[in-house]
This record gives sequence, structure tokens and C-alpha cells, in this order.
Amino acid sequence: MPTSDLDEPWSPDRTGGTAADPSRSAARGVEVRCEGVVHLYRTFAGHDVVALRGIDLVIGAGERVAFLGPSGCGKSTLLTLLGGIQRPSAGRIFLDDEEISRLGERRLTRVRSRLVGTVLQGATRNLLPYATARQNLSFARLGTGGRDDRRDLPLPEELLDVVGLADQRDQTVRTMSGGQRQRLALACAVATGPRLLLADEPTSALGHDDRDAVVALLHRIGTDLGTTVVVVTHEAEVAATFPRTVTMKGGRIGAEGRAGSEYVVVGEEGLVHLPTELVDLWPAGTLVRIEQHPDEGSLVITREDRAGEVAP
Ligand code: ADP
Ligand code: MG
Repeated sequence: MPTSDLDEPWSPDRTGGTAADPSRSAARGVEVRCEGVVHLYRTFAGHDVVALRGIDLVIGAGERVAFLGPSGCGKSTLLTLLGGIQRPSAGRIFLDDEEISRLGERRLTRVRSRLVGTVLQGATRNLLPYATARQNLSFARLGTGGRDDRRDLPLPEELLDVVGLADQRDQTVRTMSGGQRQRLALACAVATGPRLLLADEPTSALGHDDRDAVVALLHRIGTDLGTTVVVVTHEAEVAATFPRTVTMKGGRIGAEGRAGSEYVVVGEEGLVHLPTELVDLWPAGTLVRIEQHPDEGSLVITREDRAGEVAP
């Protein structure tokens, strides 16, 4: 692995000392709130594809969350809505008190350049291929408007150190490995000092060492800078490193994992998704009876064929 101090606390502080200021760090992360978010894509054939069917979700300031779920369930769409890259067709999205789903284009551009750092799927989509690592970082920092009052921003050299690319600073993106590109894309995303970091499949197509380095970096950005971190992944090992997982199914949130335990989430109007391992057991159309257990606050779900025997 290239030289990198992934275990060292990272607290870029351009205003003086090098020690992390806990109060400053606590204020860094933004709270994300989705209320009834729906998203449609209109295709050329004139058909609407419903990508998100009503997302209610709160991600606390400084929380680190992994979005999971099968291909096509809406993970990337939700990420682009949180980053202000697209607006939802319906519903509301707040970053702290700012309702980004209602902002005009100018204000939204400001949100994208200052509040949020997004790494799109496929590292090279986030980078200038013919430019060097350092040039990519300098370019990413222009997003802040090139203002001198952002002295809190980490310097390109500092970021290159943190992501273990100090030796590649003058290398062009084209000549870098997949892992190096992904780490550079992450460095560029945090170069503007965002309070929310969004990354779509940042570890896909990487070998084990590169994957571990990228995962460590994501957590480090969250813990050392207090940034809220939301990552899309299909790798269970990657998701397991996150304190919270959100599993999407068919444009809805189906389940959540907290500290290793899985929970089904009750949605609007009492909608619940069966856990994945039971979906084959009870195919769509199966009739079930749901009753409250007399003794406890629990529910008992019985399949129709057996329910028939018990209570005709
Ligand atoms: P995921 O990231 O979970 O694989 P996506 O958010 O990419 O899911 O896609 C959700 C649904 O929206 C899918 O059915 C997909 O085909 C559709 N979709 C995504 N992007 C577009 C688009 N630009 N135009 C039309 N349909 C799209
Ligand atoms: Mg996707």
C-alpha cells in the first residue's frame, strides 16, 4: 500500500493549531431529512420509470450510513437528490434547515459547491484525466469560488498526504491505478470542506487492499472532520463497517441495520417489506393474517393456508 497515515487523526486546521476542536467538529456534519421523496424518470419512449416511491429518512449530523439494495432499487437516484444534482419529482429534502428540493438553480449550485461533496460512481467521472493529482485538487477547490476566507480548507498537499498520494502528486490520472483514482476522487470531494460527503460505489472494482484503504478513508473523514457520510455499496463487508445501514427495495426503504442488528422499517400507511430471506418463502400474492399477540406488544403473521386451519 502507498504511504498514508490512515491511522493518524486528521484535523486540518488552517486557522492555527493542529489539534481537532471537538466543538468545531460536531458542528461540521449536516443533518439530512427526506419527507415523502418520489422520483420519476421520463424515458424517450414516453414511459415514466418510478425510481423512488416515497422515501422518509433522517440521517443525523455526523452520522455514517451505507445504502444497500439490489441493482435498480434507487440508491444512486437518492444520492443524486441528496447532493442537489437532481430535484425530486415530489416530496421534500432538507439539509439542516435548508430545503434543497425547493432551491433555485443559483442557490443549488452553491449547495453543491460548498455544502456537499459528491463522488459519482466510477472514479474517473469525477476527475480530469489528463491533469495531475495536484492539478485535480486545485481545480476541485475552485468550486469554493476561490475565496481567501476559506482558510479552514485543507491544502492540496495536505490532502494528498492524507489519501496516500504524496508520491503521485505530479502523476496524471490516466497513469494511476483504480485505487489511486478512487482515493484522489475522495480527496477532491472533500477539498471544498463539505459537511456532507456522498459516494456512489466507491469501492467497486477495487482489490482488497485498495478497498480497505478507501473504506478507512471514508470513516476517517466522518470521525475526524465530523462530516456526515453516505455511501452506496453492494458489498456486505463494506456496509458492515458502517454504524448504520439503510437497505432499499423497489424505490422504498425496506430495512435498517444498527450496530449489526437488522430491522424492517414500517413505512407510510403501515407498509412493511418482508426480510429478503423470507421473500421466496412467501411469494407476491400470498395471503397472510396479521394479528396482535394478546400478551405482548408484538404481531403474529400467519399464512392463509395455515390461518384457515386455525380460524376458518
Ligand atoms: P441503483 O443505483 O439502486 O442501481 P438507480 O437509482 O440507478 O438504482 O435506478 C433506479 C431506477 O431508475 C431503475 O429502474 C433505473 O433503470 C431507473 N433510472 C435510473 N436513471 C435513469 C435515467 N436517467 N433514465 C431513466 N431511468 C433511469
Ligand atoms: Mg447505482
